[in-house]
Amino acid sequence: MSTKNNAWEYADSIESASHINLRKQYGLYIDGKWVKPSSNKYFSSSNPHDEKHIADVSEANEDDVDRAVQAAAKAYKLWSKISAAERGKYIFRIARLMQEQARELAVIESLDSGKPIREARDIDIPLACNHFFYYAGWADKLEYAFPNQQKKPLGVAGQIIPWNFPLLMAAWKIAPALATGNTVVLKPAETTSLTALKLAEIIEASGIPSGVVNIVTGFGDTGAALVAHPKVSKIAFTGSTAVGKLIQKTIAGSNKKATLELGGKSANIIFDDAPIDQAVEGIINGIFFNQGHVCCAGSRLFVQENIAEKVIRKLKHRMQSLQVGNPLDKNTDIGAINSKEQLKIIQRYIDIGIKEGSEFFQTDCALPVQGYYCRPTLFVNVAQSSILAQEEIFGPVLTIQTFRTVDEVIQKANNSPYGLAAGVWTDKGSKIFNLTSKLKAGVVWANTYNKFDPSSPFGGYKESGFGREGGLHGLGAYLK
Ligand code: ADP
Repeated sequence: MSTKNNAWEYADSIESASHINLRKQYGLYIDGKWVKPSSNKYFSSSNPHDEKHIADVSEANEDDVDRAVQAAAKAYKLWSKISAAERGKYIFRIARLMQEQARELAVIESLDSGKPIREARDIDIPLACNHFFYYAGWADKLEYAFPNQQKKPLGVAGQIIPWNFPLLMAAWKIAPALATGNTVVLKPAETTSLTALKLAEIIEASGIPSGVVNIVTGFGDTGAALVAHPKVSKIAFTGSTAVGKLIQKTIAGSNKKATLELGGKSANIIFDDAPIDQAVEGIINGIFFNQGHVCCAGSRLFVQENIAEKVIRKLKHRMQSLQVGNPLDKNTDIGAINSKEQLKIIQRYIDIGIKEGSEFFQTDCALPVQGYYCRPTLFVNVAQSSILAQEEIFGPVLTIQTFRTVDEVIQKANNSPYGLAAGVWTDKGSKIFNLTSKLKAGVVWANTYNKFDPSSPFGGYKESGFGREGGLHGLGAYLK
């Protein structure tokens, strides 16, 4: 079944693309087998760089979701009983197989999502492997993780993930669920199913018992069927706040446990005693990493007034050096926007900002003629009440506000419906401790930004959702 397809066309100019092995058409991965969708409907996964078709992906309907959940429920009887050390061995095996195929996974991720190959290769894929390694290690040590507590797995976990970090989000979801003895039905996002399907191949190769992990592809209604299924005991969702609210309504009154990791509008705060050049790099990484398709992106910049002019000048200069272009080119800093729809959303926000009259700046780099691209964008002197400062844009668009005092910036940073992350740049440890305790954000980075590690919990407050993934907290979310 595994054949070369037209994704190989990309290999002509890009050496690394020749390492990929994709099927022309993907079935659903249910009960350890590749099966056809019962509707016989498929949809295209395409490359946001040139809009070319890569592979056909199955559209799972309610019946397919039911098949997957029933398989996971059957497998749970076995998986929850086998020794914890044995469970750990399978998870380690998955991690090692992922590492062996890391290069191929990175190329496919870049091709399917639009993210720069450098980021996929150096950040997404290694971190995804590390999540499996980290949780494999916990599998037979749960009594040390939760001493003097009788913890039990929940059953079947229904997991729904977004398109910004496709393989990494799959790892965040699957690894802790397996380590704690749960079984899984995972639904990737419709524009980025391919690395989850490659992961299904890896899981198959690991020899893990059939039905322990099932991967069903499809759109929002596939996700909704998974959420509503009575045999699903736990929902783990990462995506938009709007869909998170719908999920909460569906599961209200049921016994389903949930973790929801939703949107963000995170503050990145620069004090006048910060190392300015490092802070400028932190601002760039905070908002332009992964084209700004990051739920914890530092999309609201707060600069202390007396250094604002200098910081903005340096920031604009640094932005001009960012290479926007083909994600598979290893010199690319900013790749393609994941979909035409997302590009329209970002453009709509930029138009609003221009109409509102904030000072507007975009770099003047050349963009590829085809594909979904957006120049790195700044809005300076944005009012606190502006839509741009309030709503999540999920693109390479930064708003800048200034402040004078610590109290003022805490008040402004917390004046958001979201509470996912924040960054603080200062030379003073006391200021860091003061702010970290007062900022209403699940993650606060000090003198860095967008740093992730499997051992540290991640999650939000307010409309950014609830529950934590990563670390010990991430294990607890799959146990009762
Ligand atoms: P975005 O707006 O960033 O695409 P979404 O929240 O729409 O984020 O999508 C995140 C994930 O949720 C995707 O896998 C998508 O298919 C899924 N999804 C969309 N609508 C629903 C729904 N009503 N119920 C469950 N999952 C959904």
